[in-house]
Order: sequence, then structure tokens, then C-alpha cells
Amino acid sequence: MPYDQLIHFVKEANILSAVESLLDWDSETMMPERGLPARAEELSMIAAIAHERRTDPRIGDLLSRLDGKASNEQQVANLREVRRAYDRATKLPADLVRKIAHVSTIAKDVWGRARADNDFPAFAPILSQLLELKRQVADLIGYSGERYDALLDEFEPGMTSAEVSRVFSALRGPLSDIVRQISTSKRQPDTSILHRHFPRAAQETFARRMAEVVGFDFSAGRLDVSKHPFCSGSFPGDIRLTTRYYEDFFSPSVFGVLHESGHGMYEQGLPAEHAFTPLGQAVSLGIHESQSRMWENMVGRSREFWEKFFPEAQAAFDSLKGVSLDAFCGAINTVKPSLIRVEADEVTYNLHIILRFELERDMISGTLAVKDIPDAWRAKCRELLGITPQDDREGCLQDIHWSMGSYGYFPTYALGNLYAAQFFAAAKMAMPDLPERIRRGELRPLLDWLRSNIHQHGQRYRAGELVQRVTGQPLSIEPFLGYIRGKFFPVYGL
Ligand code: ZN
Repeated sequence: MPYDQLIHFVKEANILSAVESLLDWDSETMMPERGLPARAEELSMIAAIAHERRTDPRIGDLLSRLDGKASNEQQVANLREVRRAYDRATKLPADLVRKIAHVSTIAKDVWGRARADNDFPAFAPILSQLLELKRQVADLIGYSGERYDALLDEFEPGMTSAEVSRVFSALRGPLSDIVRQISTSKRQPDTSILHRHFPRAAQETFARRMAEVVGFDFSAGRLDVSKHPFCSGSFPGDIRLTTRYYEDFFSPSVFGVLHESGHGMYEQGLPAEHAFTPLGQAVSLGIHESQSRMWENMVGRSREFWEKFFPEAQAAFDSLKGVSLDAFCGAINTVKPSLIRVEADEVTYNLHIILRFELERDMISGTLAVKDIPDAWRAKCRELLGITPQDDREGCLQDIHWSMGSYGYFPTYALGNLYAAQFFAAAKMAMPDLPERIRRGELRPLLDWLRSNIHQHGQRYRAGELVQRVTGQPLSIEPFLGYIRGKFFPVYGL
């Protein structure tokens, strides 16, 4: 049967990618330093074989033979997504792919040094080169609106610049207003309580406990330590989370683990019978991020959640004894415009993303020249956040993405926040007692709701259609703004 043959090829390629990601996980968590040279060879060989499998002309032949012949909805979805992946992989000539890999490896290194030296001009030439290569990629992949669409589509299939722009334009004004109101409020939480001493061993136990209470299944996953936290996994029965511990800061491990658990529970909820095919894979980066943000922020930073778990935190950490629940909830929900995206709170975060989207869209179209990026960054930062970076380290050199050739990636973070709020509002409509359940520490009903509405479908629907089906509405900023006002105005006495 051509369909079964096709699925066989697709699985082979995806299983090789799974091996690749396991090797990657190992490099970040377990591998001794001197293992690196061999690991680099192992990874590049697996990547090369996987690429060969993904671009095997037999996949193209089978796709042509199966065109219009899907016999059910599941086949429709698998064929649609296999076709998309095959087209993306085969439209780019091998020497262009190699060139981009080569240039971005150098660019990452150049960027690292340019950032350390606060020297944007040192990074500018290779950034120009990368942008030119990515324009070629966009032109080869094709697009109906603008070039940037072809790049965005890599991370958020089906999303367009026009749609992102519509949503972000509507969001930037109201969000900047909210940030201004919060910044000028007389009531400001005391964040120093999060910077007391939190022994590492106690953090490890507590972080693991947090993952368990939200529903991460440790019989189908692990939690380890890495320099940068991540979630990796290609099969629902084996999902790897990582985190890091700072003894002088409570938040990174606890909220980092809640965040990665959100990603991990999505992966654990994908249908195992469709593993290694699109129906067994996550919809998009934006939908993935909606799961992590919901558990980290909407659940994990809610007052209801800590009504149940703050006594446990106090029992685990002497530093929290004598701290009131109000003071704690204020501290973990502090909003303050800052220059660094990865340290941003959930209210200002999307403004950081809007800034990057507006700039990179112009960088790809060519209306923003590379030499003008630092000034454009400062101007937008002032406009959106009301603050201006003193140097490019805190400005346009702060993120690694552009040096990796990842353009169109940033919007998925903000889309994740918007999807999360929209899903969470729908979950509350479906389960009016959800806040009460969270207050009792009963988090299973929310996970079950996510499982049946989102996880179990894999890539059956694209993000836009999924949002419409689950919430009865297209992507909207209102649930997010409503959530932000409802949560932060009380904290700041507004
Ligand atoms: Zn994430």
C-alpha cells in the first residue's frame, strides 16, 4: 500500500531525528567534556542520514501517487504535513543548506565575541550574509504574502506576517498602557524574598515535586541539570526535562521546571500509536509554548496554586518562613520593564517580542539596513517599554537567534502566550470550578482537558484551526489582556 510505504519512510527519518535529539540531550546533561569530538561526528552523521531519508525521491513519488487519495481524516493530515516537510526539505539545494550551516556556526561564534565586546560592527558583516542566505531560502520555499512568511512558516506552519502583524498591532498599545500603569503604581512588591538562601538539595526535591503535582509522568520522563533549560523527546514514553539551580534565587528552578513540565506533558500526551509521524507530533512552536506558559504562569504563578502549595514551600525552605502568601504572590508576579527578554515578566514579555518581530520583518524585506539595527532597537525599546539600553549587549546583541539564522522564531513565544490565555479561558468556561480545583491542588482535570482538546490530536489541525475548534474563536488578544488585567491589577492595587 503506497500510504503504508510512505509512513514507513517518514518514520525512518523521524526515528533518526529522535536518535539525534537523544544524543543532543546527552551532550547537554551527561557527556564528559572530552566526549565532544566524537559526539560532533556522531551527530553530523545521523543528521546527514536523516536528511537523506527526508529527501528520498521515493517520498516524492509516493506523495504524487497519493495526491487526493486519502481515505480518512487522519491520512489527510499526515499527507498534508509530510508534503509540507518534503517540499521544504527538497526545495533547498544541498550546497545552500551546507552553506547556511557553515555560516551560522561561524556567526554564533562571532556573535558571542561581539556581544562580550559590545561590538555590533564586528557582527554586522556576517549578519548581512546570513540575512541574504535566508532571503534566498524564502524565495526558494516560496510565499504568497511576503518573504518573511516563508521563514515564519518553518516554526508556525500556516501563520503569516499579516496575521502576526494584525495581532501584535492590536496588542502593543493596550499592553504598553498596562505596563505604564503598573510601573507608576505606589504599591510595588518586595522581590528580595526570592533572593534569600535556597539550598540546592531542597530545590531539587521541591522542583521535582512541582513537576509531579502538575502531572508530569516520571515513569515516562526524567529531570536533569543543564546550562540552559529545555525539554526534549520524540516519543511520549520518554521525555527529558532539564533545569538549573541557583542557591540565591528561588524562581529559576521552580518556574523553569513548571514551564518545561508544560512542554513535557504535551509531549507525553501525544498519541503513541502515531509516534514518528505528524499525527504523533506537536502542532507548532507557538502551540508548544502555550502549554508551557499555561502551567508556568496561569497555573504556577496563580494565587490559587500557592494557596495549596505555599505551606509546602515554607516547609522546604527556611527562607520563606514568616513570609506571607500575599508577599510571595506579589514577588513572583512582579512586573518591571527591563532590557533583557529572558528575564522579562509575563506582562512585558510580549513587548520584547513585538520589538523583535517588527525589526526582523524589516531586516528580511531589506527596508532596515543592518547598520541601522542598533538605533532602530533603541527607538523601539523606548517606544514599547519606556526604557533605553545603554549598549548593544543589552540591546540588539542579547539574543542568539539571529546568529543561528532563526528569523521568524521570536513571534512563536508571544503567540504561545496568546494561545495559552485563550485556551485557559476556554478551559475555565468548560470547568467553572477550575480555580477552586487548583486551590485544592487538583490539577488533573486541566491536564485531562488539554489532553482531549489539544494533545491527542497531534498535527491533525494547524494552529489556527485548533484555536478555532477549541475556543470557538480565531486567535484573539482579548483573553490575554483580560487575564493580565484580572491578575496584575489586584497585585498592584489598580
Ligand atoms: Zn518554552
